[in-house]
Amino acid sequence: MRIAVIDYDRCNPDKCGNFLCERVCPVNRMGGEAIIIDEENYRPVIQEASCTGCGICVHKCPFNAITIVNLPEELEEGCVHRYGVNAFVLYRLPVVKDGMVVGILGPNGTGKTTAVKILAGQLLPNLCGDNEDWDNVIRAFRGNELQNYFEKLKNRQIKPVVKPQYVDLIPKAVKGKVRDLLKKADEVGKFDDVVRELELENVLDRDIKHLSGGELQRVAIAAAILRDAHFYFFDEPSSYLDIKQRLKVARIIRHLADSGKAVLTVEHDLAVLDYLSDVIHVVYGKPGAYGIFSQPKGTRNGINEFLRGYLKDENVRFRPQEIRFTKSSERKSQEGEILVEYPRLVKDYGGFRLEAEPGALYMGEVVSIVGPNGIGKTTFVKMLAGVEKPTEGEVDWELKVSYKPQYIKVDYEGTVYDLLSKINAGKLLNSFYKTELLNPLGVPDLYDKQVNELSGGELQRVAITAALIRDADLYLLDEPSAYLDVEQRLAVSRAIRHLMEKEGKTALVVEHDVLMIDYISDRLMVFEGEPGKHGKALPPTGMREGMNRFLAGVGITFRRDPDTGRPRANKENSVKDREQKEIGEYYYV
Ligand code: ADP
Ligand code: ADP
Ligand code: SF4
Ligand code: SF4
Repeated sequence: MRIAVIDYDRCNPDKCGNFLCERVCPVNRMGGEAIIIDEENYRPVIQEASCTGCGICVHKCPFNAITIVNLPEELEEGCVHRYGVNAFVLYRLPVVKDGMVVGILGPNGTGKTTAVKILAGQLLPNLCGDNEDWDNVIRAFRGNELQNYFEKLKNRQIKPVVKPQYVDLIPKAVKGKVRDLLKKADEVGKFDDVVRELELENVLDRDIKHLSGGELQRVAIAAAILRDAHFYFFDEPSSYLDIKQRLKVARIIRHLADSGKAVLTVEHDLAVLDYLSDVIHVVYGKPGAYGIFSQPKGTRNGINEFLRGYLKDENVRFRPQEIRFTKSSERKSQEGEILVEYPRLVKDYGGFRLEAEPGALYMGEVVSIVGPNGIGKTTFVKMLAGVEKPTEGEVDWELKVSYKPQYIKVDYEGTVYDLLSKINAGKLLNSFYKTELLNPLGVPDLYDKQVNELSGGELQRVAITAALIRDADLYLLDEPSAYLDVEQRLAVSRAIRHLMEKEGKTALVVEHDVLMIDYISDRLMVFEGEPGKHGKALPPTGMREGMNRFLAGVGITFRRDPDTGRPRANKENSVKDREQKEIGEYYYV
């Protein structure tokens, strides 16, 4: 079975030399019609039945607009939805089960939202043909767990609730005070409990338009939980939250399933997904072209297969390299030469005061910064970057610093390529940077785009690239994982590690994603205090010492997966959790 997908946003028949694909197609040249021109829309159409799959058009198209793939025949009957001729195709759907949290793991653009829209009854799947009837959908899933689900959905016996992905858009759609919003949502009479659990007491009387990202996220989750529904979908519940909040939210969502509800979630933080889900589906394919839901897998095994890049039951390799975690979390720390010693630094904003103890950074190391939101992590990084002047102490070094802020401003007029080549054109051509940074982050595909038209995830990848190609001694990266999908997070982690190791440079990274922290860090800097009031930055320490200190404050223990070495959060009060707390090993190596 062959599918041809054309990205019409990229296709530009005038600029490629007048429908180049049509002219080079061997079938067309022999008088056939594998590619025809849709005169009305002024664009090429590939007729899959006539195309031989030679791939010539794919290679010739200067804008990489065409994808041709051969897929196993057996997928055909699992074809759920196709957005149109030569458009994205979705194969199979996730299971939905009462009393279970089903996690979805995979890159963006592979149909996760499409699947959820179908399950929420917002999109009638066309079954890759011209279907216009839910009865046909029910028939297509006969014998499958979803048959019953779709029957109920059709008869309006299922009420779905969706916690949207982009919580920052909520203030545009909903006005008023948090209290009023949540009171209105409360159909289960648990307002007080949910507000307490999600620590929303202090924002109840605030206007929604004045909430931070992390507050909006918790309000959105509260609003979903307070509804009385059958099917709950949480799209990226961890964005904007710190580690403690992430695991707390995971626990609250789990309770929902424990009370018998069916829960589905998309989550890119693997520690959170692991903690949250009973089973997971890996979605694989090619973003924008097609997506396939794997069979449901046990959470541990599914995440391990994902990290390996190979799905055993499906016999599919979807990533050439495997992601491995160093089992000993104590890396080489402090072997290199000292890059810089910084003095005691204080920043007093009036309402908030940060005190950083003096510390040293070494050449060739990556130090991660961890701590709750509002504790002064960004303030510290800004002082080192020279953006914010300390109230006490001085940063008067000669170091060249490259800084990626948490909130990326877009006031650049021009393309991504213009921006990056002005920063360092040489590195864009350098083969090490191409294989380690540019290609894994998919940056060359963005070169022709206008910087001010990039999506959140695209902008993040460009900003990380801009920071890492600069010639500098110290790289400061504030929350590089924000807006990135799981595959991009792994790519960024690998890039940061490899570049620092190879170039002997130093990176300081503010991060909340535990797997990313574990993968990239040689050492850790822990921030403690009272969020919004005062913060204290401890000097960098070894991973074990740092994690023990940090996680003891959070009250969560981690163990390591014996196969992949990845950190896994222990369930609260489990045997391991209690044992580890007793001996003070919160982060088992
Ligand atoms: P994910 O949630 O995994 O990011 P989506 O389900 O949002 O993926 O989208 C998968 C692909 O489907 C997108 O890359 C997009 O190209 C395509 N798509 C989504 N909605 C439409 C639509 N209404 N018309 C045509 N294509 C669409
Ligand atoms: P984190 O990065 O740990 O989330 P931040 O460094 O961003 O924390 O902020 C710490 C505290 O300092 C917050 O309470 C924030 O509101 C306050 N703060 C940050 N920047 C300023 C500023 N320019 N003026 C006043 N207060 C600020
Ligand atoms: Fe030209 Fe590529 Fe569009 Fe074909 S798909 S018309 S080669 S830009
Ligand atoms: Fe023609 Fe080959 Fe492209 Fe198919 S893959 S449309 S046969 S050039």
